[in-house]
Amino acid sequence: MTPQLMEAGRLARERLDRLPVPARSGGRAASYGRVVHEGVVDVSHGAILYLEDITVSFDGFKALNGLDLSISAGELRCIIGPNGAGKTTMMDVITGKTRPDAGSAFFGSTIDLLRLRESQVAGIGIGRKFQKPSVFEQLTVFENLELALKADRRARAAVTHKLAGEQLDRIGAVLQQIHLKAEAGRTAGALSHGQKQWLEIGMLLMQDPLLLLLDEPVAGMTDEETERTAELFLTLQGAHSLVVVEHDMKFIGALTADDPKKKVTVLHEGSVLAEGSLADVQANDKVVEVYLGR
Ligand code: ADP
Ligand code: MG
Repeated sequence: MTPQLMEAGRLARERLDRLPVPARSGGRAASYGRVVHEGVVDVSHGAILYLEDITVSFDGFKALNGLDLSISAGELRCIIGPNGAGKTTMMDVITGKTRPDAGSAFFGSTIDLLRLRESQVAGIGIGRKFQKPSVFEQLTVFENLELALKADRRARAAVTHKLAGEQLDRIGAVLQQIHLKAEAGRTAGALSHGQKQWLEIGMLLMQDPLLLLLDEPVAGMTDEETERTAELFLTLQGAHSLVVVEHDMKFIGALTADDPKKKVTVLHEGSVLAEGSLADVQANDKVVEVYLGR
């Protein structure tokens, strides 16, 4: 990590520490946190997301089986693995869509994700991008971003002129980031598939999430769109933490190109098969056998 990235990660952790703990989240200390005294946990490890021993069964079939995962603040983590490995189910658990049979899931050291409703998870700073783009096709690109901003309770609470200007600046900045400045007035339905994916990412960015969960974000994109998406994600790391599930190994290569030690996690049959640098996991015999060799 570069000093800039470490600083951005530090700021993200500070923001996380200031988050109000939602009413239903017990503030139970995560097992990884060093309990300083009752109710106070040392978060100097910097994990923004911590999953431990998560198991999800569907009619006896274990979609997740003792899954452990720890993501540092500011980290961009790539997750790969064959179809059915449990990647989407993992995101369902983090966002409260699916309740695991066992295990724990923490956002920072105090927010117990397993006690939150799906509707509360976005409010604590977790944004999720599903596999299919879901933008409002009949609205313009600009209106889609405006709507996403209004969905943010913090922005809605403060309706002053100054903030209206700030909000315009924010929409402008996001339009720039997602390469859609020139398309701001077009209806979303007229965009290419890749542009729709960017718009949906832009809608998540309007809420300034601490953690972004991205499920196969470049599926169906052209090579050029895929490259631009990698550039975008690299600019987001640090200030945001990202968990990116993808099959496109060229894309994974681009996302890890800035740091040869950047961690990649391989899921298989509901648990972690391997974790390490891209070079490490690509050279791992078990990974080649179940995934890369196919
Ligand atoms: P991935 O995203 O890695 O391809 P999924 O998390 O979608 O994998 O699925 C993991 C396994 O769990 C698959 O075998 C899938 O069929 C199964 N599964 C996922 N959701 C359900 C569900 N709601 N009911 C039954 N089985 C499911
Ligand atoms: Mg999936």
